[in-house]
Amino acid sequence: MEQILMCKTCDAELSYPLTTIDTVSEMERLCSFADETPVSPARHFLLMEGEVLAARMKRIPGWEPRSNAWLNLEDLRETVGFTPHTERLMGCCSISSGYGPNRVCQCGEHVGTQSSDCYEYRMLEPVPTATYWKNTKE
Ligand SMILES: [Zn+2]
Repeated sequence: MEQILMCKTCDAELSYPLTTIDTVSEMERLCSFADETPVSPARHFLLMEGEVLAARMKRIPGWEPRSNAWLNLEDLRETVGFTPHTERLMGCCSISSGYGPNRVCQCGEHVGTQSSDCYEYRMLEPVPTATYWKNTKE
């Protein structure tokens, strides 16, 4: 089964169907954690819950997740644009996640935070209150 990230406000599909990575062994096999590098391979997302979340929190004491999922930026659909708040699109070499949610749905709702600056992993963290996951059939 795959899941699609959806906009809570207008029910638009925000991502392609994605396979969930939800165990530490899958995370270690499939994900990379390096600056300017996508965390998960395309068509996959890392579910930041359970043992995956525990492993990340153990590795970085004091760290807390902004979202319960980390997506590959390539997996966003054309329904997802950039915020009109240009001050949130600042960064050193690219867009930083440090200024608040910076990606919007076609309806105008802020649905995610893109990290892509030179000192960050490349990913999108959905805004939990603005999005939900829909299961694909089967
Ligand atoms: Zn929307």
